Amino acid sequence: MKNVKAYSAASATAPLASDTIQRREPTETDVSIEILFCGICHSDLHTARNEWGGTVYPVVPGHEIVGRVAAVGSAVGKFKEGDLVGVGCMVDSDRTCPNCREGLEQFCPNGTLTYGSPDKHTGGVTYGGYSESIVVDERFVLRVPENLDLAGVAPLLCAGITTYSPLKHWNVGPGKKVGVVGLGGLGHMAVKFAHAFGAHVVVFTTSPNKKEDALRLGANEVIVSTNPDEMQKHAGSFDFILDAVSADHDINAYINLLTRDGNLTLVGAPEKPLEVAAFPLLMGRRSLSGSPIGGLPETQEMLDFCGERNITADVEVIPVQKINEAYERMLKSNVKYRFSIDMSSLKSE
Ligand SMILES: [Zn+2]
Ligand SMILES: [Zn+2]
Repeated sequence: MKNVKAYSAASATAPLASDTIQRREPTETDVSIEILFCGICHSDLHTARNEWGGTVYPVVPGHEIVGRVAAVGSAVGKFKEGDLVGVGCMVDSDRTCPNCREGLEQFCPNGTLTYGSPDKHTGGVTYGGYSESIVVDERFVLRVPENLDLAGVAPLLCAGITTYSPLKHWNVGPGKKVGVVGLGGLGHMAVKFAHAFGAHVVVFTTSPNKKEDALRLGANEVIVSTNPDEMQKHAGSFDFILDAVSADHDINAYINLLTRDGNLTLVGAPEKPLEVAAFPLLMGRRSLSGSPIGGLPETQEMLDFCGERNITADVEVIPVQKINEAYERMLKSNVKYRFSIDMSSLKSE
C-alpha cells in the first residue's frame, strides 16, 4: 500500500480537509493514475453530508477524474505510462451479468462505485478523485483525447455521459425538437450534445437572464418556463425532453409539451417524489423515464466524440483548498457550469 494525499470529510457535518489515504499497489491488470483534474458533482456533496444515507467516513468524493498513467500492471494491454486517461463513477463490476456483457455496466447489480463502495482489494471502502492518484482496473479506465482542455474534460466523466447517453438512446438528431430543462452542470452539457447531434434545441429556464448563455451554448430557442403563454405555444411539439432539475418542479407542464410518442427522461433526482398526472401521458402515448450515467463503451464513444467535435464542459478551476466554498456556491447554482479541481494544488498540503 502507498500513502497518498487526499481531501476527505470526517463526518456529515465536518468540512472537507486534508488527509492521507492508502492506495493499493497495482495488480497485473491495474492502471495507476496521477490525477490532474477532478470535477465536483452534486453527488459528492450529497455523499459527504450523508444526505442519501449510508456514507462511511472518512469519505473521499470525486468521480470526474482525468489524469496521466503513472504505471501499469504486467498484463495491461490498453494503456502505457504517460497516456491521458479518465475514470468516471464506477471502478469495477461483476463483468458477468447480462448488463455487463452488453457493456451496460451502469446497471450491474454488483458494481463498485468510485467512492464509498466496499473495496474488494483493500477490504475498506473505495476512495474517489479528490486525491493525488488512484489505482483502477484497466477495464474501467477510459482513453482521453489529447486535444481537449483537461479541466473541462473532467466533468464529461459524469455530467457528460449522464446527458450523452439518454440523448443517444432516444435518437436525438437532425429533425428532432429537443428540450433541456435546467441549465446547470448536466443541462449545459445536454445543450452542447443535442446541438452537436443536429437537433433543434430549446432550453427551459426560470431565469430570463440565462437566455444569452443558453444561445451561446448551442440552444436555438429559450423558453421562460414560468410564463404559461410561452409554454402553451409549444404544446405537443417536442420529440424529447431531458429534465436535469433536481429541485421540486411541475413535471406535467413538460409532459404536455411532448408530441405523440414523445419521451421525457429524468436525469436529475428531486428529493420528494414527483406528482405525475395520467392524462397527459395517456393522450399521446407519451412516456416518462430516467437514465443513469452510461456504460464503458458508450463513455468511451462520448469522449471520442468530444475529441472530434472539441466539446468540453464550461468549468471554473479551483484549488482543492477552496472545495468547501465551492460546495456552498454549487448549492446556490453559482457556477458556470461545473467546478474542476486542479489537483496539483494538493502538492502544497
Ligand atoms: Zn456525478
Ligand atoms: Zn454486471
